Amino acid sequence: MQDCIFCKIINGEIPSNIIYQDDDFVIFPDIHPQAPIHYLAVPKRHFPLFREMTEEDKATLGRIFYKISTMENKLGLDSGYRVSINQKGEKGNNAGQEVMHLHIHILGGKKL
Ligand code: AMP
Ligand code: ZN
Repeated sequence: MQDCIFCKIINGEIPSNIIYQDDDFVIFPDIHPQAPIHYLAVPKRHFPLFREMTEEDKATLGRIFYKISTMENKLGLDSGYRVSINQKGEKGNNAGQEVMHLHIHILGGKKL
């Protein structure tokens, strides 16, 4: 989607150090890390919110979580980590979602 920063990373318009990608999703470091280890896992298909997921998106999210589990050592997460997703709601943005392309934060490298 035009003007979406994560779509631009996915299609190579904006450079990023993509550490994993397949047909469905990418994983790259967060530009403003909130912990020593902070990656974002991002479906390639642009959709902003959980409530806009298709059946295919549901399967992609399952594959993302599975892939994260197989990459714990490679990502330096073997001392434990947190995954989180900020979601804007119909009536407000209590979680503070900034980028309206669904993404999963992966945080670790210290006691959170
Ligand atoms: P959220 O508040 O869940 O929407 O988080 C958006 C995240 O995207 C923030 O942690 C930002 O630091 C991160 N971010 C924004 N632009 C970039 C970028 N060009 N490359 C990597 N991460 C980014
Ligand atoms: Zn997008």
